[in-house]
Amino acid sequence: MNDYQKEQLETLRMVRQHLASVSETGREKLRAMISPYLGFRSEVADFSAAHFGETCTRNCYESKLSACCSKDGIITFFADVAVNVLMSGADALDTLEDVLQKPNTGFKCVYLGETGCLWQVKPIVCEMFLCDAAMRRASEADPACEAEWKALETRKKGFAWPDRPVVFDALERFFMDAGYRSPLMYLHNSPGLLRVKQKSMEKGTYTHEG
Ligand code: SF4
Ligand code: SF4
Repeated sequence: MNDYQKEQLETLRMVRQHLASVSETGREKLRAMISPYLGFRSEVADFSAAHFGETCTRNCYESKLSACCSKDGIITFFADVAVNVLMSGADALDTLEDVLQKPNTGFKCVYLGETGCLWQVKPIVCEMFLCDAAMRRASEADPACEAEWKALETRKKGFAWPDRPVVFDALERFFMDAGYRSPLMYLHNSPGLLRVKQKSMEKGTYTHEG
């Protein structure tokens, strides 16, 4: 198990442990809190399937050489892990724990299984990664595609970019209030993201409309 896998495993277990101690009502409240984000994720997934699906299938999935999943240390936010645990059954989460404890021998993401990604709600970085070739082909077919994708990227900030209160920040805070800490809590420990938050507060724009 390398350092990345260790960090991922510790965070996954921490999230599972705390959520197991929370009442069903408490978990339902968390699911309600992430519901707008999940709606956004569905929109992104539908858009990607409609505009990039064919290129991705031809270029990558058929050859099983997806460039999207060929890195062994994909960035995951703490909120990615929390959302996935909230939306997964125990078996799927046990599978993630299993793969994280095995050596990753291939030139691929540790989470890539035989039939694709093992996460139920994959990390936001993965959902919104797009290679130039996929965008080029999609724009040839539909010139409005690039602008629409950019609009989705802007909307993503409303969930994950801390220049305003965002759900990614709130999820970290929920676990921090219970005494948990993880290096993946970037919205509370990345100097760059803390500066974004601080600046916005100083300017008085740290609001939901921000
Ligand atoms: S976005 Fe690009 S690299 Fe990723 S699966 Fe599609 S074609 Fe392949
Ligand atoms: S987490 Fe899933 S989608 Fe992201 S790189 Fe790994 S296998 Fe691919």
